[in-house]
Order: sequence, then C-alpha cells, then structure tokens
Amino acid sequence: MPGTGKICAVVASPHAEGMRQQLRTAFRSAKFVEMRLDWLAGDAEIDCFLKWLGAQKHPKTTVIATCRRREGGGKYRGSVAKQLAHLWNALRAGCNWYDLEVETTQKCPPELLEVMLGEGRQLRSAHFFEHIPRDLKRVAAQLRLGKPDAIKIAAQCGSLAESLRLLKFAASQEDIVAIPMGEIAAPVRILSVRMGTLFTYAPVEHATAPGQTSLDEAKKLYRADRIDRRTAVYGVIGDPIGHSLSPVLQNAGFAARRMNAIYLPFLVHDLKDFLGAIGPLGIKGFSITIPHKERILRHLDGCDPLAEKIGAVNTVVVRGNGQLYGYNTDYVGVLRTLQTRIPLQNSRVLILGAGGAARAVAFALAEAGASVCVSGRRIERARSLARAAGGEAIARKQLRGEFFDAIVNATPVGMHPNVRQSPLDANELNCRLVFDTIYRPRETRLLQLAARRGIQTVSGLDMFVAQGTAQWEIWTGERAPYDTMRRAVLRALEQEEKSGTKR
Ligand code: NAP
Repeated sequence: MPGTGKICAVVASPHAEGMRQQLRTAFRSAKFVEMRLDWLAGDAEIDCFLKWLGAQKHPKTTVIATCRRREGGGKYRGSVAKQLAHLWNALRAGCNWYDLEVETTQKCPPELLEVMLGEGRQLRSAHFFEHIPRDLKRVAAQLRLGKPDAIKIAAQCGSLAESLRLLKFAASQEDIVAIPMGEIAAPVRILSVRMGTLFTYAPVEHATAPGQTSLDEAKKLYRADRIDRRTAVYGVIGDPIGHSLSPVLQNAGFAARRMNAIYLPFLVHDLKDFLGAIGPLGIKGFSITIPHKERILRHLDGCDPLAEKIGAVNTVVVRGNGQLYGYNTDYVGVLRTLQTRIPLQNSRVLILGAGGAARAVAFALAEAGASVCVSGRRIERARSLARAAGGEAIARKQLRGEFFDAIVNATPVGMHPNVRQSPLDANELNCRLVFDTIYRPRETRLLQLAARRGIQTVSGLDMFVAQGTAQWEIWTGERAPYDTMRRAVLRALEQEEKSGTKR
C-alpha cells in the first residue's frame, strides 16, 4: 500500500452530514482514511454522501471504502449486489481502495469483482469477533485466493500473548493489516505499526471495533503517527486502567522534551501475561497501580530497599538484560508535596487508612522525622502499619481530643463518584494542614471542610504529579519538565470537570 501514514482515520456516522464533517477532519490529520459506508442509515443516505464525495477535490490521501454487511460484522443490511454497487460508486467518487470481507468474496465470482471493482485496489478482510483463529497461515492463504492487493485480519485477543501472536504473524507477511481487537489488546494496537502491520485504525468519532483509540488521542496524546522501531515504550498497568491520567502526564513530558517515547495504559488482569510481553513489546519501564502494586514484588529481580520496606512498588525499570527493578515513588510524591509546606521533622501527622498509599505516606513521613499516627476502620491493620512505621494507632473516637500538624487522607473516601463523602467531620479537623491524596475531584469534601475552618489544604494532584515526574526521571535520567506535565494533567481534569464526565 502506498504511503506511510501509520494511522488510518475511520469515518463512521449514520448521517451523510456527519460523514462529511468527519471526513474533513480525517483529511486534515491522516494519510489513510476508511469510510464506513455501512454505518450510514440506508441506501439513500449512502447515495447522498457518495454524490457529495464525487464533487469534492481529494487531497493526497488513500481512501478505503467499506460497506461491510452484517454477516461480516458490519452494519449494512442490503444485498451483496447492492453492496458492490455502493463500492463501485465509491471508487467513481474518488476512493482508491475498497475493503471487502471474505463473507462477500466467497459469494462472488472473481470475474464479477474484476468487472465491477477492477479499477480499485482490494483489501480483503476477515474478522474474528470471538477469538483469534488458531491457524493464521490458513486464514491468510484463504484471503489471498483471488489475489487481492492486500489483506486484513482483525481478531479479538484476550491477552497480550494472543495480540503478539497476531502481530508476529503479520511481520512475516507482505501487505497485511493485522488488528488485535479488545481492551487488553488496545496498547498493542497502537504499537502494531512498528511490528509489521501497514497501519492502525483510529476512529474520528465513533469506535467501530472494540479497543480502538480515537484519532485525536492517537495523534495528540500518543503521537502514534511518529512511532517507529526506535520508539521507547513505557506504560502503566492496572485493573481497571481507563481512568488513569498517567498517560496524559508522562506523554506530555516526552512531547515537551521531543523524545521518541510513548507511554500507554495496559489493562492487566493477568500479571504473567504482561510480564511475558515486556520483551516482545520492548517495554523499558512501567508504572503500577491497583491491584498490582504488592503482587509485582515477587516478580522483580531487585528492589529499592525503601520500596521493599513499604511493601509496594509503583515503578519498574526494565534493565538492559530484561531484569526488573522496582521503586516506590508515591513515597517521593508525599515528601515533595509536604516538605515545602510544613517542617516535617518533629511534626505530628495523622494518616487515615492503612492501605498501599497509607504505607508509602507513613514510611515517608517517619523517614523525614515526623511522628506518625494511623487511624483506620480496621484498627488491627492501623496498628500493624503504625508499628512498622514506629508510630501509634489512634481510634477514630479519640480524634476530637487530639491535635496534629497535618492530617493525610489515604482512603478513597470522597473520591469520584462519592464526592459528598468525607472521611472526617469538620470538628475532627484539629490541625494546621489537610492533605487529601485523592485528585478526582481536586477539591474534595474533606478539603472544603478544612478550608472553611481556615486550615491549609493540599490536593492529591501535587502528589500525583510528584510521583509521576519522579518515575519519568528514573526512566529517562533527565530532569522532568514538571510545569508542562502538571499543566497537561490540570487541563485534563478541568476538561473533565467542565463536561461533568470522568474518563
Ligand atoms: P488501598 O490499598 O485499597 O487502601 C485503601 C485504604 O482505605 C484501606 O486502609 C481501606 O480500609 C481504607 N478504606 C477504604 N474504604 C474506606 C471507607 N469507606 N471508610 C474508611 N476507610 C476506607 O488503596 P490505596 O492504593 O492505598 O489508595 C488509597 C487512596 O489513595 C485512593 O483514593 C487513591 O486515589 C489515593 N492515591 C493517590 C495517589 C496520588 O498520587 N495522589 C497515589 C496513590 C494513591 P481497609 O484497610 O479496612 O480495607
């Protein structure tokens, strides 16, 4: 296929007007465009759109027309004859390629295809929406019967290992588009262009297959059109992971420093599956979030003593020989956030919660010379953390009679969507400063209560940026562009707050 666009923008709308608008965006941003005619509401809408298309001047773009029938996983309800007629019209309207699913080609004599669509180039496709076929070689051989110009295999992949099998196969073939589908495969899809596939699909508006990244995100967030074999790959693993703002933070740093690097979110149910993909994907480092922060420890070849003491790792460096070394930068995040605001030496700090974040907070503060108090809904867990950090556990009912230099919330109480909740009442806030590790929303109920009492407040955003920039520095060995990275996260949060939606 001509061009090295890497991203194929997918234009799909039920209305001709929607298609027109999306097409304008697609022409501006991509060298490959797929027009999903089957998404249009019916034959009349397809005709109307193609008539408009025929009257346009086409930029130097490879345009693929697709009118996939339901039988092949598309939306088109008409007959094969009608489908071919639409594709013929699309070629006359300026499309240079057409995608024809194997379910249709099996029903058409090759001579008919040659007569009707011979002036265009054919991408013959097979879709496997349930699971990846065992014998990819056989699938490819069947697709190549009738000598299409290129072939496409799209398959649902339930693991990174399956996605890699598909892409490894694609690397052994000429003129092939391989699409690993599904949420787990999503990051591999973005990386697929550096592994032998011709391009990756990104919808302008509506996802047309599971696991697609939008055109806007692919270009602006991941700079996917610039990926090549030298691109350094980083990521964050978690379950769930869709909400993570770490890609916004880390990629902003790479873009600001003009580094050939990408940071992707990996939905990881099975840690072993991810660990097996590190080598083949060339991953150089990754962040870890819930629920893998503790589980990862047993898979590491080495670990920073502090992270070991905390019992949780949120950062891994993949060394040259493939060995994994772990750090905990939540610890650094806490210190960078609090040190500039209050003197920690000899201070008295209350930590709410006794989970992973609370452990990082407790050890960081103890190391900085603070006296640590822990309060948790399960007093035994609070006691155990307090003991490990050389502090004391305090029951909630005692809090009113106590005074602290700072109170740190390390529970998820007050986090979106439960934004009306607070882990403490206003009359329990006997302190100079309240630090909430939550950053969604930026101003939690707890911080509102504290501010009303004239107490200094600190949002979890500062810790998030501090732990993330520390990761960035560990991986790159360079000073992080802190302000740029912080601004990118802030922008994303502001957009979210404005639209009232969460990622
Ligand atoms: P975690 O390991 O699951 O621990 C959560 C802790 O909160 C546990 O002690 C748990 O109590 C307690 N808890 C949960 N629900 C509660 C409730 N309804 N009432 C009272 N206590 C409750 O989670 P984590 O990783 O530590 O995360 C905790 C918070 O820290 C999250 O809000 C997360 O967003 C935040 N965090 C922020 C950053 C940042 O960079 N800003 C980094 C890491 C974490 P039990 O012990 O009884 O289960």
